[in-house]
Amino acid sequence: MYAPVPPDPNAPEVRVNLYSDTQTRPTAAMREAMMAAEVGDEQLGLDPTINALCARVATLLGKEAAIFLPSGAMCNSVAILTHCRPGDEIVAHETAHIIEAEGGAPWALAGASVLGLPGPRGMFSAEALRGALRGRSRYSPPQTLLAVEQTSNLGGGAIWPLATLAELTGIAREAGMAAHMDGARLLNAAVASGVPARDFAAPFDTVWIDFTKGLGAPLGAVLAGSAETIGRAWRWKQRLGGSLRQAGICAAGCLHALDYHVERLAEDHANARRLADGLAEIAGIAVESPDTNLVYADVAATGRTPEDWASALRRQGIMVSVMGRTRLRLCTHLDVSAEDIETALAAFRAIN
Ligand SMILES: *Cc1c(COP(=O)(O)O)cnc(C)c1O
Repeated sequence: MYAPVPPDPNAPEVRVNLYSDTQTRPTAAMREAMMAAEVGDEQLGLDPTINALCARVATLLGKEAAIFLPSGAMCNSVAILTHCRPGDEIVAHETAHIIEAEGGAPWALAGASVLGLPGPRGMFSAEALRGALRGRSRYSPPQTLLAVEQTSNLGGGAIWPLATLAELTGIAREAGMAAHMDGARLLNAAVASGVPARDFAAPFDTVWIDFTKGLGAPLGAVLAGSAETIGRAWRWKQRLGGSLRQAGICAAGCLHALDYHVERLAEDHANARRLADGLAEIAGIAVESPDTNLVYADVAATGRTPEDWASALRRQGIMVSVMGRTRLRLCTHLDVSAEDIETALAAFRAIN
């Protein structure tokens, strides 16, 4: 599903980078905040900036405690290792990042398998979850974790409604499962829907947010949960080599992002809608109206492959990503302006 476009040495300079919201560069102000950070030994709990970030994210997500990790993928792995034992089964959407894009980490690191459920826009229903429950017997793998992505990446940045999350986590709990939220873009969901992040996070045992997507920091993600769960997560952070030293430099960038880059996510969402509307006017391109900052365009009916589109766009300085056999993904973020959207749309029209 994920098909990174290799850099073409002959391609012109990138004018508009819609490849991913991970492509943001730290702003001058963020770099200044990082330079000024007070630091200490993170793994001994002595880095004041890391401690401030963890406390702030715990409050933001309505949890007792939080732990800083280098990446979102490590948050997923640490959470899975904390919740699951070898032989366990995780239930997630069939397009989940933990299935598609983390190198098989649940299987390789935790010895846990992931059962992928189908459903439109990266979401599945309560009926689908109920239908997937195996019941406890010595024959079936113990199903110990429900994992949900808010927003769903391959589902087009779709926002799970609060009521669906409450229903799904209720079913999971009755079945003796823990619940984990991959909140790589949870703040996009919160800003777009007006539902506070802590309300989305409330029925989940663990939840994390990423600072390297739309928030624009160079690294860092924070996983939150009960003090007891985060205490156990610390052992996995240590085991995976994720315990750090003067990491407050990084946390200062994340704190800066919380101060200055959250409310502005609304601009990314408006730009995504403008982009989707413009693309929908191009013959053969099918777009779903985006909930947040990810726009998926199905180009099957244009007679060109997505690779074709991506390289023709790249020749005009527009970078997009190819997702599967028929789709392009275009992400709006901190480094994409409303004007850039018009530039990108003009490039699409010139090709068509
Ligand atoms: C990007 C992403 C991750 C991984 O986060 P990294 O910080 O890149 O490791 C996990 N889940 C989803 C849904 C993502 O989009």
